[in-house]
Amino acid sequence: MVELGKVKKRKCNDCSEYFEETQGKMTILPDENKLIWHFYCKKCLRSWRKRGLQNEGLSNIEINEIIKREYP
Ligand SMILES: [Zn+2]
Repeated sequence: MVELGKVKKRKCNDCSEYFEETQGKMTILPDENKLIWHFYCKKCLRSWRKRGLQNEGLSNIEINEIIKREYP
């Protein structure tokens, strides 16, 4: 957590840019034997989700609909 001006911002663990908390999500990731909270921006969450859905073999149309619903 870093304070930039008056608004507290969090650093995205993936793209390393700073975002307000509402522009992303805290996510728990297992790290060895403990769970660690990381912040990810919506853009990175979307592209992760997209890759996951592509691996499941969904079409681009289906993927776009799911992503629109989950990350409006
Ligand atoms: Zn990011």
